[in-house]
Amino acid sequence: MFSKVPQYALRAIEILQGHGFQAHLVGGCVRDILMGREPQDYDINTNAMPQQMQRAFEGYRQVETGIKHGTLSVWIENHQIEITTYRRDGKYSDGRHPDSVELGAELRDDLARRDFTINAMCWTPQGGLVDMFGGQEDLINKTIRCVGDPEERFREDALRILRALRFASVLDAQIEPHTDAAVRSMAELLNRVSAERCAVELTKLLCGSAAGRVVQAYPAVLDTILPGLGQMRGYNQDNPHHCYTLLEHTARVVDAVPPQPVERLAALLHDMGKPACRTMDQAGIAHYRGHVDVSAEMARQILEGLRFDGATVEAVVQLVKHHDVNVDDISEAGIRRMMGRLGVETFDMLLSLKKADNLAQNRALSDRIPNLERICSIEQQILEKQSPYKLSQLEINGDDLIDIGYKPGPAVGNVLRELLDMVVEDRISNSREALLAAAKELMKDN
Ligand code: ATP
Ligand code: MG
Repeated sequence: MFSKVPQYALRAIEILQGHGFQAHLVGGCVRDILMGREPQDYDINTNAMPQQMQRAFEGYRQVETGIKHGTLSVWIENHQIEITTYRRDGKYSDGRHPDSVELGAELRDDLARRDFTINAMCWTPQGGLVDMFGGQEDLINKTIRCVGDPEERFREDALRILRALRFASVLDAQIEPHTDAAVRSMAELLNRVSAERCAVELTKLLCGSAAGRVVQAYPAVLDTILPGLGQMRGYNQDNPHHCYTLLEHTARVVDAVPPQPVERLAALLHDMGKPACRTMDQAGIAHYRGHVDVSAEMARQILEGLRFDGATVEAVVQLVKHHDVNVDDISEAGIRRMMGRLGVETFDMLLSLKKADNLAQNRALSDRIPNLERICSIEQQILEKQSPYKLSQLEINGDDLIDIGYKPGPAVGNVLRELLDMVVEDRISNSREALLAAAKELMKDN
């Protein structure tokens, strides 16, 4: 398994050892290699102190990423490697950061400060695997277990609560009972953790292979960073179109969209506003009019609160807002208009979300999948034939309109949009002559 460790990582170990230091691959990369997965990056731990590391890597590009905490980034053969001095973390009084870190500790201390047994193993070419806390066995059994006492570890750094859920999802693992009890009883401490750190873990959790199961198993824990999720648990939708509780429906939609951040976030948040919009008709059937806009607003607040980047927030909000649009009888022109309005990327994500949403409903009553597949294939034809659906595909632009006498300003954009509409509806062809003729007609009308 470790035969695939790349040369540059072995080289980094060799350099440190050549200077008389210990050095191992450690943490996530060891876990991933043992699982037969490709590590995202390679981390090394060493008993060299920061200045000694800097000297050992003289001549290599290096950046002091967190030198106070003993971390140096070096580039070997154009690959970045993080090297960290063995350390022991001091007291944590804020539930987020150690008050101090003590460098120059023993290897055992450095492994003991790590969050879970599966992340607390290291490896060298000469000595093989070092596994002081039973990480390999937990990995084989797919078990997430804190190194040491779970409550203490979560009090030190509450982000570990969310990381436990993240690894349960990504590795399709179970959280060991003591760790699980602490995850549940201490979830509120997550409020103290920075939004950015939570967002990173939430994103990884949602893109994991068991995301739906974890969402369904830990709604109250996740409610601390996703207010509104907790009340979905056991929420009966009281509507024949829905055969699952709101939480189970949501979890199923999460699993059914592709494992990409925007799609998974949209799936998670698409029905958040339902409880606030519930009305009951005389037949005892519940309706949720307006839930789309309420959910979109909740999604915006949650994602902005978690400091997601603007592009992610906008894309998720768009998807939530459009997830319930009726496209049963949409024409080719309608599809082209939606492609233009949303952009092809978001439009494709919307189709995935709508498919997933329908799969997680009572399909005996409404099977919308064939229609959504029809829309997909029409979209493919539109793209292949390069049928215009956006302004930049028109054979004329704003300058052409100004040349024939339009005043520069917003009117130019409006006329272009009107021309695009005519092309999309096949009322005129997308040729310069036809477009300019139509533009001149429009000038007369105005
Ligand atoms: P990924 O594949 O997402 O990079 P990873 O396990 O490498 O997963 P990182 O966040 O990169 O996770 O952290 C690297 C290592 O540092 C972990 O494997 C773990 O040993 C340790 N670690 C990270 N965060 C914490 C934490 N909050 N508390 C304790 N140890 C941590
Ligand atoms: Mg990592």
